[in-house]
Amino acid sequence: MIIIIIGPPGSGKGTVSERLAKEFGFFHLSPGELLREEVKKATIIGKEIQRYIEKGQLVPTHFVAEMLKLELKGKKKVVLDGFPRSLEQAESIQEIKIDRVINLDVSEKQVIERFAGRRICSKGTHGYHLQYLPPKKPGVCDEDGTLLVQRQDDKPEVIKQRFNVYHQESRPVLKYYQKKVQNVDAGKSPDEVYEQVKKILRL
Ligand code: ADP
Ligand code: AMP
Repeated sequence: MIIIIIGPPGSGKGTVSERLAKEFGFFHLSPGELLREEVKKATIIGKEIQRYIEKGQLVPTHFVAEMLKLELKGKKKVVLDGFPRSLEQAESIQEIKIDRVINLDVSEKQVIERFAGRRICSKGTHGYHLQYLPPKKPGVCDEDGTLLVQRQDDKPEVIKQRFNVYHQESRPVLKYYQKKVQNVDAGKSPDEVYEQVKKILRL
């Protein structure tokens, strides 16, 4: 089963995907996470990728699509968190059968306040929120014990640009999948959002 999770920045795509991976063994495929790993390695490609991420722009599709297809190979149960983010990307995976497309529907106003409190573990895998999803021990990841950090691109001016990109490039993807899209009210608590997703997936 291949599921796509769509939604504006901060709508909870990573949070829902992480839970599906933990509870049901989905492979959580997040291009954002893979790209940040490449940036950390400081390779030539990593430095190129960083230029886009730090401006809140989409990394060119050829970088992302190739990487994504390699990761997808042979996997049967996948949740795609953050791909496709443009029509070009949706078309680049048209040969792949997508089972469900879930749209995390939430207003920009509501998610803006989530950014200041967002934290991720130093490995870049697990996400938290200081107020809404705090770790058991402050500042430390429950899963791998690494320190929690803020994402470099969670600055107000970059967030603004990421929203612009979402409206211009990513929203058309909803239309592309319109027959498959199922909406979730993502303005609710993390538990309520996850319950809605599970219901849609009949899990
Ligand atoms: P995305 O992957 O869509 O950018 P995240 O899953 O990283 O979004 O969530 C953004 C921030 O909001 C994180 O700090 C996360 O812990 C928190 N969060 C996720 N879902 C909810 C929710 N339903 N209510 C409040 N905060 C949430
Ligand atoms: P995310 O972790 O999903 O919030 O993504 C963080 C950043 O990674 C985005 O602002 C983009 O710069 C880049 N990125 C993530 N997914 C994609 C994608 N599908 N296509 C292009 N760039 C992406």
